[in-house]
Amino acid sequence: MIPVTRPFTPPIEEYQRLLEGIWNRNWFTNNGPLVNEFELNLKKELGLRNLLYVSNGTIAIQIAIKALSITKKVITTPFSYVATTSSLVWEGCTPVFVDIDPDTFNIDPGKIEECIDEDTEAILATHCFGNPCDIDTIEKIAEKYGLKVIYDAAHCFGTKYKGKSIFNYGDISTTSFHATKLFHTIEGGGIFTPHLDLVKRMSYMRNFGHDGFHKFNGVGINGKNSEMHAAMGLVNLKYIDRILKRRREKSIFYRDRIDDSQFSFQKIENETEYNFSYFPIVCKNESEALKVKNKLERNNIFPRRYFYPSLNSLDYVHNTGNLINAEQISRSILCLPLFYELSKKDQILICNIINE
Ligand SMILES: *Cc1c(COP(=O)(O)O)cnc(C)c1O
Repeated sequence: MIPVTRPFTPPIEEYQRLLEGIWNRNWFTNNGPLVNEFELNLKKELGLRNLLYVSNGTIAIQIAIKALSITKKVITTPFSYVATTSSLVWEGCTPVFVDIDPDTFNIDPGKIEECIDEDTEAILATHCFGNPCDIDTIEKIAEKYGLKVIYDAAHCFGTKYKGKSIFNYGDISTTSFHATKLFHTIEGGGIFTPHLDLVKRMSYMRNFGHDGFHKFNGVGINGKNSEMHAAMGLVNLKYIDRILKRRREKSIFYRDRIDDSQFSFQKIENETEYNFSYFPIVCKNESEALKVKNKLERNNIFPRRYFYPSLNSLDYVHNTGNLINAEQISRSILCLPLFYELSKKDQILICNIINE
């Protein structure tokens, strides 16, 4: 069986060594030494001054929304994982969907301004499959209308834009370290911001608002992560260069072999050092996509329809506007298997079936 992804699995001895330390200290969670060390190592790896390690990528988005005091309308993308939209609704905000660019799969900044009204407070955009949004244009629009910008950078570990980690952009960026992501801590997430006041507020927020034992600084939630999760992160971080290199090789292999007269590929933004976190192909239409998917599945290969359905079809949002690109692409896209252990033999098999 070849799944769409498989978690990166480091040598078990390396993980066990860190577990022994946890056992000896008898300190499992609540800002332990491994969580601190992991945050420090991450900052070094990413070249960032501020970051917060949290329990998952969804709570990261929710804390970001709360920290920016966003409660009304938020411009967002219909082509993302459900957590991008559900976090907004969960926090009492109203998602306003803007269509995507059919080449980059990211929110089309040319269509944002017409959707802004006096209740619009922010833009929450996803760097889809690790491909940077049109950050410069989004920033300009945000400045012109006084909007906050949050980037859901869940797919972005390792992506650089204009020479810097993509997590540097926006008022706040968030990411996920879930086991299915390129770099993972089993469950986990990260929050990034250049604003020191926000770092402070969000660090209270992720720990119930605790300011010492008996004092509280604002409303908080449990967004902490554990020593066991940080341990996985510390081990996996040592492999990140190899992980990125392999994904790059495997993606180029697909690109060279898949018949580009039948399928199209995501256009990666200029000035990007891309992390190759997914390998999406867009078929001519939905029935072609389903044909390819069925054929692969008959051979025990399981691509995923990422992202399907388009998020404007969720029954708890109001569907407004023309979202034709998002709907068309979500119906005709397939993400092919891509993970560290994927063999060349399997890749050749996958390409042959697809091209047939
Ligand atoms: C994975 C993912 C999330 C959620 O992250 P979790 O760590 O699973 O909570 C949010 N947004 C996008 C785009 C994702 O792919």
